[in-house]
Amino acid sequence: MRLIHRYLLAAVLMVAAGAAAMAQTRDDRYSGVTGTIPPAAVASPAGGPDWSGESGSSGDPRMTAAAIRAAAVNFHGCIERLWPLAARRGISHNVYAAYTAVLTPDLRIMDLLDGQPEFTKSFWDYLDLLVNDVRIEQGRTLLQRYRATFDAVERAYGVDRYVIAAIWGVETNYGTLGGDRPVVRSTATLACIGRRQNYFREEFLSALEILQRGDVKPDRLVGSWAGAFGPTQFMPTAFKRFAVDFDHDGRRDVVDSVPDIIASTANNLKKDGWVTGQTWGYEVVVPANFNFLLADHARSIPIRDWERYGITRPGNKPFPRPDDHAFLLIPAGVQGPGFMMLANFRVIMRYNPAEAYALAIGHLTDRLRGAPSFVQNWPRYERVLSRGERLELQQLLERHGYDVGEPDGHLGARTRAAIRDFQTRIGLVPDGFASAGVLDQLRGR
Ligand code: CA
Repeated sequence: MRLIHRYLLAAVLMVAAGAAAMAQTRDDRYSGVTGTIPPAAVASPAGGPDWSGESGSSGDPRMTAAAIRAAAVNFHGCIERLWPLAARRGISHNVYAAYTAVLTPDLRIMDLLDGQPEFTKSFWDYLDLLVNDVRIEQGRTLLQRYRATFDAVERAYGVDRYVIAAIWGVETNYGTLGGDRPVVRSTATLACIGRRQNYFREEFLSALEILQRGDVKPDRLVGSWAGAFGPTQFMPTAFKRFAVDFDHDGRRDVVDSVPDIIASTANNLKKDGWVTGQTWGYEVVVPANFNFLLADHARSIPIRDWERYGITRPGNKPFPRPDDHAFLLIPAGVQGPGFMMLANFRVIMRYNPAEAYALAIGHLTDRLRGAPSFVQNWPRYERVLSRGERLELQQLLERHGYDVGEPDGHLGARTRAAIRDFQTRIGLVPDGFASAGVLDQLRGR
C-alpha cells in the first residue's frame, strides 16, 4: 500500500483515536506536519499540485520554507557533489548524466514529507478500505492466473502465496495504485532537500544502480513520493537486498515481471524471518477485567500464558500451537477485538510498519485463503478525534499532572498510559483508547 499510502492515505497515517500507535508505512513514516503561509516560489513542473510554499511542521530547520527554497536553488550543485559517490558504485558518467542533467526537484514532496493530517481514519476504516469483497475477488483471480508461479515460489522460498498476494493487494491494489513519480527524481529531491537527506542519498544512489544494471526499464521506475516502486513497492535499497531474477532473463524486474515480483517479495519476507507453514496471528476475545497494560509489542509470551489471563478465540476455538510466543494488540480498546500476534506478524510489520496496514495484510491473507471475516464488532460509533482534539486531549492530560511529552497530536505510548491511569481514576475500563468520551471526561474535570 505504499501506493495507496502514498497518494490517498499518505496524509492520514496516524493512529485512529488513540488506537495503538500506528507507525507509518514504508514511505509515510517520514511524514510530519505543516505550518505557515508564504507563497510558493518554486513551482513543481510536473502535473499535480505544486509545493504549498509553507514551512514543514516538524520544526526541523531544514524544513522551513526558506531552507527548502535555498536547497532547491542549490539542487544541481548537490547532485554534482553526489557524483563521486555514484562513481564508486560503478555508475558510469554517461548514466549519471543521462538521469540527472536536466533533473528538477519535486518540491511537492516536501509537503508530503512533513505533512500532518487534520483528520485520521480509524483502524476499522482502513480494514474496510483494504480488505473488501472486490479486493478479495481480485486477489483470488490473481492467485489463479499465476498459480504455477506461486507454486514454484512457495517451493523455493517457503513463503505462503496468500501473504504475497495480500501484500500486492494492500500495497497497490494489485498494481493499479503504485504512484507515477519518477523514483530518481523523488529520491534526488529528498537526498538534497529537507530533513531526511542522509537516508535518501542511499536510496537515490541505489535507484541509479538499478538503472545502470538495467534491471527495471527507466520509464517504469516510477512510484510513491518516497521512491517505492512496483506492485509490491520496493524501495531502491530493499530492491538491492531482496530482488531476484526468478524468470532467468538476466534482469530483476520487480515492476513488469510477475515471476520476479512474486519471488522477490517472497525473498524479502523469508530474509526477514518468515516462518514457513505458520499463520500471522489470531483474532481473540479480551475480557473486560483484563489488564490492558499487558497489551504491548514488547511483551511476547507463550499463548498458553495469555490463556491464563482469560484471552480466548471467538467461539472458544482452541489455539493450534499454544507454546508459540505472541504479543497482544488491542487497537480499539475494550469495545473492539483483540489480536494475538505471532512471529510472522512481526515479519509483516517489517514489510510495512503501520499496524493497521500490517493487520490488513494479515486479514487479507486469511480471506484469500478462504477464512471468514473477523467475528467481533468494531466500536464504529466511536468518532475518531481530529488533530485539534488530540492536541487538546494531551494538553488536558498534562493539566491533570500526566507527562505525555510535548503535545503533538500523536497518541503514543505515554499518552495511552496516561489515559489508562485517568480511566482507572474515574472508574472506567482502563484500555487506553482515546475516545471522544474520554476527552469529554477530561474537559469536565
Ligand atoms: Ca527477470
